[in-house]
Amino acid sequence: MAFSGESTSDVFGLRRATRIGGRPGLPPPTSPRFGDQPYRHMVEQAVDGLLVVANDDGRIVYCNPAAATLLQSSRETLTGSPFGLPVTQAEDAAAVEIVTGGEPVFVDMHTRSISWQGRGATLVSLHDVSARRSAEARIEMQAKALEAAANGIYIIEKGGVISWANSAFTAMTGYGPDELCGQPVAILAPPSPDDAAHADLWTRLIAGETWKGRIVNLRKDGTSYTAEQTVTPITDITGRLSHFVAIQEDISARLKTEGELIRLTEYDGVTGLPNRNVFMHRAKAAIERASRAKAMVAVMVLDLDNFKAINNTLGHETGDKFLAAVASRISGLMRSSDTLARFGGDDFAILFENVTDMAAASRTVRSFLNSFRDPFVVDGHTIEATASIGIAAFPKDDIDPPSLLRHAELAMYQAKAEGRDAFRYFDREMDADIRRRVQLEADLRHAVEGNQLWLAYQPQLDLASGQIVGAEALIRWNHPARGLISPGEFIPIAEASSLILPIGDWIIEEICRQHMIWQVQGLPELRLGFNVSGVQFRQKDLFNKVATTLARSGLSAKMLDIEITETVAMERTGCVQQNVDRLTAAGISMSMDDFGTGYSSLSNLQAFPVCRLKVDGSFVKGIGAKRDDEKIVEAVVRLGQSMGLTVVAEGVETLAQLEFLRGLGCDEIQGYYISKPLPPEDFRRFVADFRMPAS
Ligand code: C2E
Ligand code: MG
Ligand code: MG
Repeated sequence: MAFSGESTSDVFGLRRATRIGGRPGLPPPTSPRFGDQPYRHMVEQAVDGLLVVANDDGRIVYCNPAAATLLQSSRETLTGSPFGLPVTQAEDAAAVEIVTGGEPVFVDMHTRSISWQGRGATLVSLHDVSARRSAEARIEMQAKALEAAANGIYIIEKGGVISWANSAFTAMTGYGPDELCGQPVAILAPPSPDDAAHADLWTRLIAGETWKGRIVNLRKDGTSYTAEQTVTPITDITGRLSHFVAIQEDISARLKTEGELIRLTEYDGVTGLPNRNVFMHRAKAAIERASRAKAMVAVMVLDLDNFKAINNTLGHETGDKFLAAVASRISGLMRSSDTLARFGGDDFAILFENVTDMAAASRTVRSFLNSFRDPFVVDGHTIEATASIGIAAFPKDDIDPPSLLRHAELAMYQAKAEGRDAFRYFDREMDADIRRRVQLEADLRHAVEGNQLWLAYQPQLDLASGQIVGAEALIRWNHPARGLISPGEFIPIAEASSLILPIGDWIIEEICRQHMIWQVQGLPELRLGFNVSGVQFRQKDLFNKVATTLARSGLSAKMLDIEITETVAMERTGCVQQNVDRLTAAGISMSMDDFGTGYSSLSNLQAFPVCRLKVDGSFVKGIGAKRDDEKIVEAVVRLGQSMGLTVVAEGVETLAQLEFLRGLGCDEIQGYYISKPLPPEDFRRFVADFRMPAS
């Protein structure tokens, strides 16, 4: 038996684990005597182990069954064995480990001096505390684990005072090891906490539930961090709430990374504005709120009128900066509750919540358009820009974001079609319009092979000779259901859908074919003008197509005249320029159509190989009525001729107009006064029978 590592040859040893204060042996009691019945019986039945050790030789002279069990030996072996400790020094001790062959046993040991059969002896009582001791060890281990945990852990007493915090938590919050203990938990809350989260936290905890969620906590230095926190209420053995254990993970860094990812997936890199996804999400939420509150939501689409040109001339980098400048200018005019988003290119969308009346929306939209009055200065360039805006409203126009956006887009196109730099509200008519257009486009696809297209020819009169010298071929469409449809209606659709390309090919073939027929029929040689749109001029193979068709028909190139618009003439880029050069080189002449309606000037024309100028009919219409129009016609005739161009006046409807033009020395006229555009056979007869009307 051994204490504190004192090694002997004993059959067992006792090791003192915790000393709780020693007490020397007490003087022996006088009565009752231990060996007497019924005391002996009581001692034999005692739960605690009892040993009597003779003071003189330190050997065990008595041991009860409980002691034998504790010391994992038999009474016979124990009796007479040395106790292992000078019994005079035996002291009361707590949690003494008894080293045996098997599981360690822990006992609280108490000693009393007694007299044993006339000898001085010590009564040693051993109280088994192994179970308590292992529970304590477990708690100690758990405490160490909690202390060493990577997550911040702290305990709050039910009164709201922090009673313990591990080092991860003190490190997270910046407090010293003991600074948090005794502090109210409120010191962790930021000045304006998320009330909803806090209210929910306490409601759940009081109800005995575990709370899990995100909270913002304050550090000692006043900065804050976001934590993922689990708080569990702990009850005492009576089931009453005693305290709370909170476990936290600081997720600020993770949120930052997530935030950056979110920014990448939800925000547009050029302007920093929300993208389409975010816009749709917010629009949906706004509509839900508005339908509960019986309020209105406006969805707007804003498109810059000349962004392509800006991008092409100043480069994409400046284009991007310009877009960012536009975004910041518009944002500056918006309420914080509204959303400005960029969908890509120069497509912006705006979400207006709580719209009380459309007049208020109009005022805001007008302020957007007005804000473009001041030019933008980007990279040292002064950029003049305008925008067109379309508006659709919930619940008037539709009830879901995609439809509202579609309607707003339609209204925006309408604003553009009506001259740009404007805004339009969506109306059902527009929708019907679009449907009509879509149907027309579908029908137009079958028009060529269905032989529904034909060319009308409008004669052109040479004023000096009184002869018909040419004609303009004008396309006609006999729609199987809708009858004759004017080119004004279907040519823009054909241009927008590229259907103009097969139609254009057909026109050239048809003109060549018709011309050859008239030649066979003995009609004098006439120059045939036809309209070629910008879309066709932008095709690499336009020249080849015209040249091949011409060669196949055997027609001379000088019999053809291509009418181009001012916009095409101004677009002196790549394919357009090449086509113009090659066509003129091949001997095909060019006419500038609708002159005066576009933005080109006579000086622009000098650089362009046109030989004829067609004064737009709208100016001719003013002859005899509007002095300004007369002046314009006069100027165009004079300047055109001074540049060596043949001037043709379009839309001549009256003799007075004819006389005025003749007076100016205008070269040719075309218009209802001479003839409307005619079907080929009518045209042939018209030319054959033509006599100059007497003036
Ligand atoms: P445009 O090339 O300026 O053609 C002249 C238009 O004025 C024609 O209308 C013609 O019918 C009309 N017109 C002629 N004389 C008078 C007149 O005295 N008074 C009035 N009020 N109008 C007159 P149309 O045939 O409806 O063609 C309209 C436009 O459609 C054309 O304008 C042209 O830009 C386009 N277009 C017509 N045919 C073709 C074509 O084959 N290809 C292409 N790309 N465009 C075409
Ligand atoms: Mg024309
Ligand atoms: Mg014209």
